[in-house]
Amino acid sequence: MRHLLNFHTHTLAKDESENSIYNLMIQDAEAVNNVRHQWVSIGIHPWYASATDWQSQVEVVSEISRLPWVLAIGECGLDRLIEMPLDTQMKIFEAQVALAEHVQKPVIIHCVRAFNELLGWKKKTKLTIPLIVHGFNNNSQIAAQLVQHGFYISLGGALLKSGSNAQKALTNIPLHRLFLENDDKDISIFSLYEAVALKLGISISALEAQIWRNFATVIPSVAPFIP
Ligand SMILES: [Zn+2]
Repeated sequence: MRHLLNFHTHTLAKDESENSIYNLMIQDAEAVNNVRHQWVSIGIHPWYASATDWQSQVEVVSEISRLPWVLAIGECGLDRLIEMPLDTQMKIFEAQVALAEHVQKPVIIHCVRAFNELLGWKKKTKLTIPLIVHGFNNNSQIAAQLVQHGFYISLGGALLKSGSNAQKALTNIPLHRLFLENDDKDISIFSLYEAVALKLGISISALEAQIWRNFATVIPSVAPFIP
């Protein structure tokens, strides 16, 4: 049985052999004890951020972020397609990043049409924690800029669409900065590893091993538990 890391998913693990980070949404935060058998991330997704009461949402994230099975903060970030102004979104995002820095856990980032803002922010921010842009499906130039500024990039289902941005960007992402995820899609994580291995001309097991190494780099506390 293969043990492939699924870096970001909205689907609960079926059993303990599944190695995934389950994305717990802020509105489901009280369920955090029900998912203690698996790895979890918690964050305020921009779609569910409260314009009037985001501070108390941040407090909930703060409490939960200390739990040992909560490995990361997020997904959180910036989304130009929603109503909330980007500067408000940025405040909410920054509050979560500060929290992540405090507990020394990485941040899983949702970014839609706001890469200039994200890169501009990163250039003036000093952080010690890793930042991972998830579900990336933008052009190769943005991928290269993210890599240059220290981001990790997690690719998802778009990899399976021929000619997609994610497919084209793959060669601009060094293997030591890459993760794979099925996100909210009903696709097997194996199909993504297979597609990447084929495209890069490497074996699935070499890819698997590299992605586990990346995981141990961004989340050193799990290194002893890695298959
Ligand atoms: Zn997601």
